[in-house]
Amino acid sequence: MSGFWETTPLSQMNHAQWEALCDGCGKCCLQKLEDEDSGEVFYTAISCTLLDTDTCRCQDYPHRLARVPECLTLNPGKISELHWLPTTCAYRLLAEKKDLPEWHPLISGDPESVHRAGISVKGRVLSEEHVHEDEWQEHIVHWVDESEG
Ligand code: SF4
Ligand code: SF4
Repeated sequence: MSGFWETTPLSQMNHAQWEALCDGCGKCCLQKLEDEDSGEVFYTAISCTLLDTDTCRCQDYPHRLARVPECLTLNPGKISELHWLPTTCAYRLLAEKKDLPEWHPLISGDPESVHRAGISVKGRVLSEEHVHEDEWQEHIVHWVDESEG
């Protein structure tokens, strides 16, 4: 039997389906630096102050936009803006017509599989409270786009 993500285009998913696509990796909640000249985006190993670095979940998801104005909300209307997402992110994978990987919770049936596979940020990031913004550049990492930890 096919999953909804195989039969329903991103633009036609309902809210529950859209939310279920998130694998809980926490990567999009890392601080990013953009090269002003090239527009290239670099991820750092510094997480948003609201990210729980153990569970990789937002600690105040319902009020996140009020508390963190720069939080980037994903929705079907922004599909064309998904290029900055990690290559492992389900929204980007589906936008690029790729399959979900075996560690994705919708495939494995287990929310922990994203952590066991080493895909999530669990155990390898610092909260932004602990790093001055002037030092973020020293924390640029390249594992964000790796499909295995
Ligand atoms: S990068 Fe994608 S899959 Fe990972 S937490 Fe963000 S939205 Fe969810
Ligand atoms: S406010 Fe929450 S969802 Fe938004 S970047 Fe921070 S931790 Fe992630």
